[in-house]
Amino acid sequence: MSNRQNKADVILIGAGIMSATLGSLLKELTPDWEITVFERLASAGEESSNEWNNAGTGHAALCELNYTNEKADGSIDISKAIKINEQFQESMQFWSYLVKNKRIRNPQNFIMPLPHMSFVRGSQNVSFLMKRFETMFTNPLFQGMEFSDDPEKLKEWIPLIMQKRATNEPIAATKIDSGTDVNFGALTRMLFDHLESKNVNIHYKHRVVDIHRTSDGLWEVKVQNVDSGTVERHTAKFVFIGSGGGSLYLLQKSGIPEGKYIGGFPVSGIFMVCNNPDIVAAHHAKVYGKAKVGAPPMSVPHLDTRFIDNKKMLLFGPFAGFSPKFLKTGSMFDLVTSVKSDNLITMLSAGAKNIPLTKYLIKQVRLSKEQRMEELHEFIPNAKSEDWDLVVAGQRVQVIKDTEEGRGMLQFGTEVISAADGSIAALLGASPGASTAVSVMLELIKKCFPQHIHEWEPKIKEMIPSYSLSLMENQELLHEIQTSIVQTLDLAGKDQSNLKGNMNTFQKA
Ligand SMILES: Cc1cc2nc3c(=O)[nH]c(=O)nc-3n(C[C@H](O)[C@H](O)[C@H](O)COP(=O)(O)OP(=O)(O)OC[C@H]3O[C@@H](n4cnc5c(N)ncnc54)[C@H](O)[C@@H]3O)c2cc1C
Repeated sequence: MSNRQNKADVILIGAGIMSATLGSLLKELTPDWEITVFERLASAGEESSNEWNNAGTGHAALCELNYTNEKADGSIDISKAIKINEQFQESMQFWSYLVKNKRIRNPQNFIMPLPHMSFVRGSQNVSFLMKRFETMFTNPLFQGMEFSDDPEKLKEWIPLIMQKRATNEPIAATKIDSGTDVNFGALTRMLFDHLESKNVNIHYKHRVVDIHRTSDGLWEVKVQNVDSGTVERHTAKFVFIGSGGGSLYLLQKSGIPEGKYIGGFPVSGIFMVCNNPDIVAAHHAKVYGKAKVGAPPMSVPHLDTRFIDNKKMLLFGPFAGFSPKFLKTGSMFDLVTSVKSDNLITMLSAGAKNIPLTKYLIKQVRLSKEQRMEELHEFIPNAKSEDWDLVVAGQRVQVIKDTEEGRGMLQFGTEVISAADGSIAALLGASPGASTAVSVMLELIKKCFPQHIHEWEPKIKEMIPSYSLSLMENQELLHEIQTSIVQTLDLAGKDQSNLKGNMNTFQKA
């Protein structure tokens, strides 16, 4: 690959966690390749990857009830949970490699140990949670998970949630201490700082407005300087469209057949953030509840301890809602302009199928703060409105496509869409999201660089020892990896809060 001006080996569009991860993997695999990044905003990790725009859960399926469904025969299907857990283990291994090799430093600035819990009310939900626990706790990936329906035990685990709670309904929780809170914004910025130090050309305030194939088989991107309005053209052999909610627009611009008949459905998010330090100190976990009937999986409410700017915080949400924007900083016309002749029927079919969901989201957007407090009361019965503020989170654009089940089906996962020759790829969708960035980008590398994968495999295995293996079936390797990760990422759990003491302070206040 050559070095002509404006000609890179790889162009990454967007400076979120996905481009940061792909850029970092490629820099390790092939350090000489020239990589150029274009980002429309002033710095890295400002959209969905920003710490205030996502929930910061290191999704390992330890507490998210929507990853474990009850089958018709009453048994619990944990296959999705196993997949997500193994994907997260790949992310942890890569981050650990980066820290060990001094590519990034101070892991406590982006990852903290934090118990992950599921909390349910009502006898039906309690029996579901118990069955789920019984299916999971013997699995090596979920070792250490505990279950309790004893109010006294729950008071120890989650005093804030148990305070002033009526005792006449069945309640239960599971707890596992190997969970994490991940500041994906901080991690994204660290990775871009590292890439910059390795001579990656990063152009902030540069918006990609068009992409097309040149006659010599390269990809040319048309880039506009956001401040001056001037336009430049850059070419590369490989382009990654890692533009989050902006990816669909650029995929459509590329004109590749694989990008046709696909649409996007934006779902917005709102968190409530606690402004009372005594309440913040009285809770230490991510506690996931069960989605309400009719609610989409990404609106499962959770009460989360978060670590942002080295400060402990408490956030509740996200409340899902509807906004036609595809990026938080996007345009009100994003949804309308994403409808093209090829995806019109797909989009109309999705619209017809998802009227109840759209109605639900519009209703959610209109909720007053007091109505949102009612949802919070299910977690903290005596929460007071003055202790909580609303903050707008990021946008998630769910993929809409035609599948065997029908036209215009709404998808809740992430999808890599790539050209048949692997010269361009886009990442669509947002769940489980940032947590699985490493495994999703490894999948992309396998798809788009088949000619190099054999040569790169030893290095991939050095960075991610479980690559292409099942950790569940290799318990020795799992143990080895986990021991090393805990040490390198400093996850031994020294931030064990004195919850009982803190709760006393809160009650006196
Ligand atoms: C409310 C909410 C909660 C979430 N919670 C979690 C969670 O708990 N755990 C988890 O793992 N994941 C979570 N996610 C998902 C996660 O945040 C995303 O999957 C992830 O951040 C996506 O990263 P990205 O790099 O693809 O996109 P982004 O971070 O959005 O980055 C895309 C970048 O591309 C830029 N861009 C767009 N268009 C252009 C253009 N034309 N030219 C140049 N630049 C462009 C944007 O400005 C942006 O900086 C959550 C998401 C939301 C919205």
